[in-house]
Amino acid sequence: MTATPAPSLDFTAIDVETANSSRASVCAVGMAKVRDGEVIDTASWLVTPPAGHDTFAPRNVAVHGLTSEMVAGEPSWERIFPQIMGFIGEDDLVAHNAPFDRSVVHQACSAYDLDWPEARWVDTLQLARTVLTLGSYSLPFVAKALELEELAHHEAAADALQAARICVALSARTGSGTLADLAMGASPRSSRASAAPRGASHPANRATGDFSGLDATGVLAGEQIVFTGTLQLSMRAEAQALVEHFGGTAQKAVTAKTTILVAGNLDPRTLRPGAKLSSKLEKAMVLAERGQAIEIWTEDDFHQRLDVGRDELEAATRQQRVAVNPSWLPSYVLEQARALDPAAGYTTWLRDALRHPSGRPTADDVCIRCGGAFGIDAYWMFLERHVCSGDCNDALKRTAKAEWKKAGVARPDAPSYAESYGRAVIG
Ligand SMILES: [Zn+2]
Repeated sequence: MTATPAPSLDFTAIDVETANSSRASVCAVGMAKVRDGEVIDTASWLVTPPAGHDTFAPRNVAVHGLTSEMVAGEPSWERIFPQIMGFIGEDDLVAHNAPFDRSVVHQACSAYDLDWPEARWVDTLQLARTVLTLGSYSLPFVAKALELEELAHHEAAADALQAARICVALSARTGSGTLADLAMGASPRSSRASAAPRGASHPANRATGDFSGLDATGVLAGEQIVFTGTLQLSMRAEAQALVEHFGGTAQKAVTAKTTILVAGNLDPRTLRPGAKLSSKLEKAMVLAERGQAIEIWTEDDFHQRLDVGRDELEAATRQQRVAVNPSWLPSYVLEQARALDPAAGYTTWLRDALRHPSGRPTADDVCIRCGGAFGIDAYWMFLERHVCSGDCNDALKRTAKAEWKKAGVARPDAPSYAESYGRAVIG
C-alpha cells in the first residue's frame, strides 16, 4: 500500500442516526470536514426528531443506543440546519452507505420545508466494494482493511470521522487526487456487475444517483441471498419472499454463487473485526478473503437496503414521468406570488405562494409535477401543494423561485441557507 498524498481532496463527511423506520426521524448527526486530505474540523449534534417521527423504536435503539430521554431538550433539525449548512458550505458530501444518509437529510428537511442543497454524494461503501474484497463492508471492517484506528461504531460523530478517513485512505490507495477522480475511477466489481442487470443494483448508479436504468423490482437484482440464524424483524418465509419480489434469489445454503448472507441474531454492534462468529459466518468470511463476492449483512442492513431501495425506485419512476412533462409549473404559482405582500415572513409567504388554489387534493387529483398519486400517509404540506413527495416538493420550490426571479416578483428575504439551490454540481 502506497500512501500517495491527496493534495486537493476536499469534502464534508456526514453520518446520521434515526429514531425509527421513518427516515425523517433524525436523532443524531455527525460531520467531518476534509481539506487537502486532512480532517480539519468536526461537528455533531443530538437532535430531537420532528413531531410525528419522534418515537424511538427498539430496533434503532439497539443499533445506536440513543433514547427519547437522551435527546430531550436537544435542538430540532430545523434549529441546527443553518449551522449544518454553514459547516458544509459548498462541499461535496461523503457518507458510508450514502443513499441512507441522503434519504434521511432529504426527508428531515421535507418535514420542515427546508431546502437541502443539490450536493454531489459519494458513497464510501460502494467505493470500498470496488477497491477491496471483504466479508463485510460495514465501517469497522473497511476501516480495518485500510489499517485505520478503530472508532466507536453507530455513533454519528465517530462514524462521520471514520467515513472521512476511509475516503482519504481509498483515495490514497487508488491514487486519486480529487474526490471526483475517486468517484469516477471506481468501477463496479466485475463479478457483481456481470451478475446484475443494468440499472437497479448497479453500484455506480447507486453512488452517482443516476437511477435512470432502474426497473420496478431490481433492488436485489443479481443477488443470491442466504438467511442464517433466527430473524428478529420478519419471518424467514416473508424475508425470502421479499428477496424474490426485489429481484434476488433466495438460497437454502451458502454456495460459490452466494453474494449476501443475512445473519439474524447478529447484533450490528458485534459485527466487527475479531468478533466470534457462527461457523456459517466464518465460512463466508473465508470465502470473501479468497475473492468470492460475498457479504455478511445484519438483518437491519437487509431491511434498510430494501427501504432505501423503495425510495430510489419511486424517485426513478417520478423522474421518468417528469421527463414527458417538462413544462409542469402551474400558472397560479406566479399569480399567487404577485398578489402577496412581500412584507410577510418568508415561511408564511412561501406557504401562501405555493398552496394549490383548490385546497386539499380529492381522489381524482394527481401530483402537479409528476402526475403520480398521493399516498394515504402523505405529508400535509405536500397535500396542500398537490405534490406527491419530497422530490416533487423540492422541484416545485426550485422552479418557482427561478420563475419568480425571472418575473421580478418581490418576496421576503430568505434565510441564506434556503437559497442554496442552483449552485454548480460537479460531474
Ligand atoms: Zn410527484
